[in-house]
Amino acid sequence: PSIAERLAQRDAPTFSFEYFPPADDAGIQQLIGTVDQLSPLRPDWVSVTYGATGASRYRTFSAVGAIRGQTAARTMGHLTVAGQDEGEIRRAIEAYERLGVTQILALRGDPPGGGAYEPRSDGLATATDLVRLIRSMGDFSVGVAAFPAGHPESDLDLDARILLDKQEAGAEFAVTQLFFDAEAYFALVERFRALGGTIPIVAGIMPVTVPSQIERFATMSGARMPAAFEAKLRAVADDRDRFRAVGLELMTALCDDVLAGGAPGLQFFTLNRSKATQEILARLREMPARVPA
Ligand code: FAD
Repeated sequence: PSIAERLAQRDAPTFSFEYFPPADDAGIQQLIGTVDQLSPLRPDWVSVTYGATGASRYRTFSAVGAIRGQTAARTMGHLTVAGQDEGEIRRAIEAYERLGVTQILALRGDPPGGGAYEPRSDGLATATDLVRLIRSMGDFSVGVAAFPAGHPESDLDLDARILLDKQEAGAEFAVTQLFFDAEAYFALVERFRALGGTIPIVAGIMPVTVPSQIERFATMSGARMPAAFEAKLRAVADDRDRFRAVGLELMTALCDDVLAGGAPGLQFFTLNRSKATQEILARLREMPARVPA
């Protein structure tokens, strides 16, 4: 079944693992090790991120190939439109098809060097256009991004309307940006449902394990931590072991909360590492039956 069918038929929340394509051989070895470690948990799917510059595109396809050789899980490839003309985007979709990847997360992407996004006149402007293109090219199941704390170039209401546009263009599910506030996730779902949105919105989960993440996420708008959450982390920021323990405890509680509130599934941003994800999954209240304690 496709990811959308899997979500529709679920009798328990889905869980999935997101990987990024490594830049070198050592990174590939680490990725393969991580996929091996996490495969016994039998994720509902795994996904691989995409970078628009030439070299990183090929890295995505080779990482997808390596992962498919390593796990039976269905694989989703991400695809962005930023920095490419329409021909390049079409060829990327065909490359996924040749690799046997029929699940695609359709995204716009961001300008490689930062700054304001400028659509190319010979390319596609938005993720919605990409959803339409992918659906027109074959039997693909397409997912899209959603933003619990809002996309930096938008506002919460426009975000909900854009998500509805993506659904109308043929997207069958969404995965959120990382967030630390369960209420923000519920509010997004509510705004979307109020407009008539029906597709499932999987919660994107970034395990917090090292103190430097506090500052990193503080500079990413949207990933701001609730004050109490951040205070608990800051209180243990000079003790790496305690920080990790507190971080995993807070993230487990966040996962429990969003699942209790009806989230259809969790997508873990693994950073190509296995331990934190394994620990959170093992501690969830509504623990998937196939995750060993
Ligand atoms: P869009 O849906 O196109 O929206 C972007 C902005 O365009 C909107 O905020 C709005 O300002 C404007 N806009 C779009 N449509 C309309 C409209 N109809 N009317 C008015 N304004 C409009 N990036 C990567 O490079 N590679 C990845 O692999 C990747 N994976 C991701 C995975 C997840 C789960 C998430 C949440 C994000 C990921 N990203 C990735 C980041 C993503 O590319 C950026 O967040 C990007 O800024 C927005 O992408 P989008 O698909 O939401 O864009």
